[in-house]
Amino acid sequence: MKKVSILGATGSIGTSTIDVLNRYPEKFAVRAVTAYSNVQKLADAAKKTNAEVAVIGDAKLFGELQEALNARQLKTIAKAGEKAIVEEAADPDAEIVVGAIVGAAGIASTFASAKAGKRLLLANKESVVCGGRLLMDTIKAHGAQLLPVDSEHNAVFQCLESASEKMRQSHRIILTASGGPFRKRMDLSTVTVEEATHHPNWSMGKKITVDSATLMNKGLEVIEARWLFDTPEDRIDVVVHPQSIIHSMVQYEDGVVLAQLGAPDMRNTIAYCLGYPERLNAGVKPLDFSSIHGLTFEKPDTKRFPQLAYAYEALRRGGCSCIMLNAVNEIAVENFLKGKIRFIDIPKICEVMMLSASEHAPKSLEDVLEADKEARILTQEYISGYTGE
Ligand code: NAD
Ligand code: MG
Repeated sequence: MKKVSILGATGSIGTSTIDVLNRYPEKFAVRAVTAYSNVQKLADAAKKTNAEVAVIGDAKLFGELQEALNARQLKTIAKAGEKAIVEEAADPDAEIVVGAIVGAAGIASTFASAKAGKRLLLANKESVVCGGRLLMDTIKAHGAQLLPVDSEHNAVFQCLESASEKMRQSHRIILTASGGPFRKRMDLSTVTVEEATHHPNWSMGKKITVDSATLMNKGLEVIEARWLFDTPEDRIDVVVHPQSIIHSMVQYEDGVVLAQLGAPDMRNTIAYCLGYPERLNAGVKPLDFSSIHGLTFEKPDTKRFPQLAYAYEALRRGGCSCIMLNAVNEIAVENFLKGKIRFIDIPKICEVMMLSASEHAPKSLEDVLEADKEARILTQEYISGYTGE
């Protein structure tokens, strides 16, 4: 019996994780479930998983959480505050930690799990983008194991698994992108929040759905791949593949390409990571090739979607550029969702703000958090005086 903690248990990835775990009650038990503010959904997650502990990030909601757990007649212990989430990420009782918090809010817990030597099933790509080399070194130094939940990286992980050290040295990564909802839309100036929060193939949280529409998600994934697989950015390509059947590919020295295919359902990659090295049945219908009417590929359009190019640029610049780009994007997306800026302003703001990143690479978790915080303040200030011209 392995004990699992789910950080971000009320989100899209968290919910899919619970779904897979509930198929294997003999293999897994749940130590902790966490969320930021949705008390009722967190208490429901505690009930579904019979979790020992439930943590709500917003400390003011402790009493409400306690009541919600009582109302469900659960013995689950209530905890509150961001520090309590980070403590759960490192708790000795959990062998596996699922990192499914959205945004840079997941950085501290990812580092805590790494330092505690956990098997870390990481969906929170932002912590790899911001933690970069420092995070990978921390994982190594503490004997932790990172298994990528992000479907593209999970695909790359599977395609690289049988490669020898020598084969790995010359590999190229080809990340697939759906192209998002605006792949064919020429005028992006009128995009509404409603349109940007609906993805053609995947059902996901709001932030990542907007990121998919701007192609920032693919940009963050390029940065994520750079660190997860130690692949320099000039050996990472992106190809638009609207059907989202091929989840990503690896090309070797001889030109041969290995691809991983599957239905676009995150339960597949979650099950892969939970069971690794065994394979578990996620309850997802396997692909039916007779109903697939072709796999197509296109070059990404970085004129309409410059965020992808900014990600490569941030990697080339180094220092705190990736932390900056990630934070600026988070704040810009937040403002877009609140109706304060237009969809086309998101890349414009990233382009300008990226230039103010420090050229010194972070040396500690504190440096990472400080750079993230500073970038958020600067961006919010910039947006307050922003006219869109
Ligand atoms: P979501 O918005 O559906 O859920 C986010 C979760 O994080 C919630 O449980 C929420 O309570 C928690 N959270 C939010 N802010 C927090 C804070 N400040 N402190 C603590 N907890 C906080 O997001 P999601 O779509 O499940 O995505 C989660 C992560 O997984 C993201 O990094 C995303 O990029 C990545 N990811 C998601 C998918 C997907 O299909 N949804 C696919 C690949 C990668
Ligand atoms: Mg992905």
